[in-house]
Amino acid sequence: MKNANFLNEDIMFDALAQRDSSMEGRFFYGVKTTGIFCRPTCSARKPKRENVVYFTSTQDAINGGYRACKICRPYACKR
Ligand SMILES: [Zn+2]
Repeated sequence: MKNANFLNEDIMFDALAQRDSSMEGRFFYGVKTTGIFCRPTCSARKPKRENVVYFTSTQDAINGGYRACKICRPYACKR
């Protein structure tokens, strides 16, 4: 049985590929080619896996130099 608190890249990529709403607020993802970060459920076109980076908070994403997506507005995401 999987530990529900454990996130690895496989789990996170699956979650964003499937727009898994149960993962809302658990993590955010950034796209290296655009410099934008999103919620896992964002309706924007899904990036290639090698271009994705993961963040556990919006602050981490900002610190990493990413900007919030205007489509999914990750700041509005509250757990
Ligand atoms: Zn987005």
